[in-house]
Parts: sequence; C-alpha cells; structure tokens
Amino acid sequence: MKDIKDLKVLIDSKKLNERIVALADEINSHYGENEPLTLICILRGAVMFFTELSKHLKMPVKMEFVTLSSYGNSEKSTGKVKAVNLAIPDLENQKALIVEDIIDTGLTLDFLLKFIKTNCKVKDVKLAVLFDKKCARKFDIEPDFSAFEIDDKFIVGFGLDYNGFYRNLDYIGYFE
Ligand code: 5GP
Repeated sequence: MKDIKDLKVLIDSKKLNERIVALADEINSHYGENEPLTLICILRGAVMFFTELSKHLKMPVKMEFVTLSSYGNSEKSTGKVKAVNLAIPDLENQKALIVEDIIDTGLTLDFLLKFIKTNCKVKDVKLAVLFDKKCARKFDIEPDFSAFEIDDKFIVGFGLDYNGFYRNLDYIGYFE
C-alpha cells in the first residue's frame, strides 16, 4: 500500500475546478442551450468530474451511468475491458456525451463508443475527458473535449484511484 505522505500534488483543487468550468463553457458553446444532451458517466473514475462538469452545463441534461474497468488493481491496463454494467437506454435521435476521467491507451473509450454506436441508435456521440495521456495511446481515438493533457505518469485523486483508494481527494496527485 502506498502512503499518502509520498503523494505529490500535480494539480490543485482551484486549478482543477477553474479548468472544468472553462471546459463546460466550451461544451455549452458547442451544443447551445436548447437541445437536450444525455451525459454518460463511466464509473467509477469519472464520478467527480461528471458531477462537477454537469453543474455548469446550460442545456437540459439527462444522466446515465455505465461501469467499465480495464485496470484491475494495477497501474497498467489489463488490455481488456470488463463491462460490469452497460445498461444504456435507447438514445434514438438524441445527442450523447461520454464523460470519462482519463484516456490512456484508448481501449475503454474505443470499446464504449463502438458499443453505443452499434446498440443505442444515437444521433451523435462525443467524448469529454478530464485527462488526456496522449503519449500512451494505442487506439485511434481522440476526445472531443479535454481539460488537461498529461505525460505518462500514474495519477490519483478527484475520482481516480489506486487500489480503490484516493478517489475522494479534491486534487490530483502522483507517487514519485
Ligand atoms: P484506457 O482504456 O484508455 O487504457 O484506460 C482508461 C482507464 O484506465 C481510465 O478510465 C482509468 O480507470 C484507468 N487509468 C488510466 N490512466 C490512469 C492513471 O494515471 N491513474 C488512474 N488512477 N487510473 C488510470
């Protein structure tokens, strides 16, 4: 078990929240205020980003939740997506925005995007991420909205865990 005393701050709470408000503005400008948008939260990592972002969106919003996992209890992707709950309703003629904590290899989002396009009759689906680890990408997929680009370090906090812990931190940290 890593010790929280060894955790270094990468992004503090103020900077995180300011950037999320700015990203919400970008999303508001893109979609406008009139047409409804279904937000799809990938549990559990995106939970903090999802709630914070949604507070600043101006269009009518619905919330859906899926549970996916590709990391298990390690700091590296297992290379396989485990779909624990994929119960997304019919999104016929609707616009959807997938909200994810971090895109790393791109495996998880590639999987979910294909699943939604194939099964949910969606009119339009886009991706919003809090972090983009571009340098680790293995799948041909790019987020439409991204708050921060980071290099290849393992981060925790604000929904992101190590072994199930640290999700509750209001800042982003990393272990050296
Ligand atoms: P991908 O499928 O793009 O390789 O990985 C996405 C998932 O891996 C994220 O939803 C997240 O759960 C996990 N992940 C990737 N990088 C990190 C990281 O730096 N820290 C933590 N805590 N999880 C990560």
